[in-house]
Amino acid sequence: MIKLSQIRKLYDTQEALRNVDLQIEDGECVVLIGPSGCGKSSLLKSINRMIDIDAGTITFFNEDILSLPVEQLRRKIGYCIQGVGLFPHMNVKENVAILLRILKWKEVDIDRRVDELLLMSELPLSYKTKKPHELSGGEAQRVGVCRALATDPPVLLMDEPFGALDPMTREKIQIAFRDIAQKLHKTVVFVTHDIEEAILLGDRIALMNEGQIIQLSTPEALIQDQKETFTKNFIGQDYPLMVLKRYRVRDLKLEPVSNLSVTHGIDMDTNLKEALALCIKQTEPVIFKDGQNSYALLYSDIFSFIRGMQDETTH
Ligand code: ADP
Ligand code: MG
Repeated sequence: MIKLSQIRKLYDTQEALRNVDLQIEDGECVVLIGPSGCGKSSLLKSINRMIDIDAGTITFFNEDILSLPVEQLRRKIGYCIQGVGLFPHMNVKENVAILLRILKWKEVDIDRRVDELLLMSELPLSYKTKKPHELSGGEAQRVGVCRALATDPPVLLMDEPFGALDPMTREKIQIAFRDIAQKLHKTVVFVTHDIEEAILLGDRIALMNEGQIIQLSTPEALIQDQKETFTKNFIGQDYPLMVLKRYRVRDLKLEPVSNLSVTHGIDMDTNLKEALALCIKQTEPVIFKDGQNSYALLYSDIFSFIRGMQDETTH
């Protein structure tokens, strides 16, 4: 879908991207992560030609992006800029519809599309007339996502869209975004400097440093396979515990326990990190409930599951 080969970007004499190769598959979410100034935003902006590269090639659906008119390219690529980037003098509807206006959509179609996007992002329709300063941080960021999705582009470029939110709001919006992107089969390149966000959203994680991709792996493969000291230091010792958050008790496919009558059990959508915490708290198995069925969870179930996921993605 998107293929970058030997990309190089210079700002004056400073090399911001050095020999970057990256192929992003259809429907995949690749997360670019690394310290500030390592070239994440530059890499993202080279894809929709917000900046032009100095060497290398980028193809989009097998076509060199230099051979496509910029407007045509940008119509197929939704872009969420770093910081919220809403226009302060425009209300929510105008912000979301800005590209639709440029493309001369009919007013009735714009109305329908904006409503659809707000509903999908769980924002009340009454917000259409609010100005950005009347929104909470989380709401403003949801509006930013709506704007990127407006023309229903196959590709989304997201530059730290959920920075500066409190952790609870942040996790909610991350999960909502992941579900929407998966449901709509979007191809996503997502920039963050937060490793937990990278793990939660990424099918693959591209770890960057000083203008290069140091390692490109699935979140599970990174547990064992850390090619460089930089990777080790960057992801930290508790990395494997963070990976548990990608999965829910439901994903373990436990066998229901018969002869067990419990009135309350825990929700099967609990993530595995929280489930492990529950296992640590008590000596008996933790009971989860789903409709009429009950499931007993031991921490060894979690361990073997995550081992299996590692094997699946490394071989
Ligand atoms: P990141 O998004 O990972 O923080 P950037 O891609 O924004 O990194 O920047 C990579 C490097 O290029 C940094 O050293 C930054 O200072 C430099 N840089 C970025 N944009 C410009 C610019 N417009 N002019 C000059 N230098 C820039
Ligand atoms: Mg940046």
